[in-house]
Amino acid sequence: MKASGAQSVLDLGCGEGKLLRLLLSERQFTKIVGLDVSHRVLEFAADNLNYERLPTMQKERIKLWHGSLMYRDSRLSGFDAAAVVEVIEHLDPPRLAAFERVLFEFARPATVVLTTPNCEYNVKWESLPAGKFRHRDHRFEWARSEFQSWANNTAARFGYTVRFQPVGPEDDAVGPPTQMAVFEIEEKT
Ligand code: SAH
Repeated sequence: MKASGAQSVLDLGCGEGKLLRLLLSERQFTKIVGLDVSHRVLEFAADNLNYERLPTMQKERIKLWHGSLMYRDSRLSGFDAAAVVEVIEHLDPPRLAAFERVLFEFARPATVVLTTPNCEYNVKWESLPAGKFRHRDHRFEWARSEFQSWANNTAARFGYTVRFQPVGPEDDAVGPPTQMAVFEIEEKT
């Protein structure tokens, strides 16, 4: 997010606000919004950020919004970058298409940093029974080839480039625990 040069940033599916705290500590980011569909986790995020006690200037810099990535939301337009960290695997596969349009067609930030588990890595966890997901709320977990074909396809449809980066210790055979795609909008000429 820093390398993108972004000033205004979205954390979509922000959960309890771990990334929001990091974003807040970087002066580069002048407008930070965390969005989540769950009121409950937004309350946790506000607690974790000590929101009520933040100085007025900081409160103006960061906002927590209730909303769903399934529906077009005009508030999400005009941001430089968006993070979508460990969120897509919580969406029902038939509804991914709605999410793709909400983010890449309507919100359309110049940069999108998106992560999801790499299910090939699951064999490395002895405590995780074979074929099980990492979290009971996951609707799917993708292998590297599945994620890359989804991301390449999505980027091509919406006019973005995409590159992939591993997150966590990479294993020769099964890759990293988490896979990340960085989408960048193609320059209009
Ligand atoms: N990004 C956070 C949380 C990941 S857990 C982190 O990395 O810690 C996934 C989050 O996505 C949950 O907080 C869940 O409430 C949120 N979420 C699930 N479906 C969503 C939707 N349709 N719109 C917005 N947020 C959603």
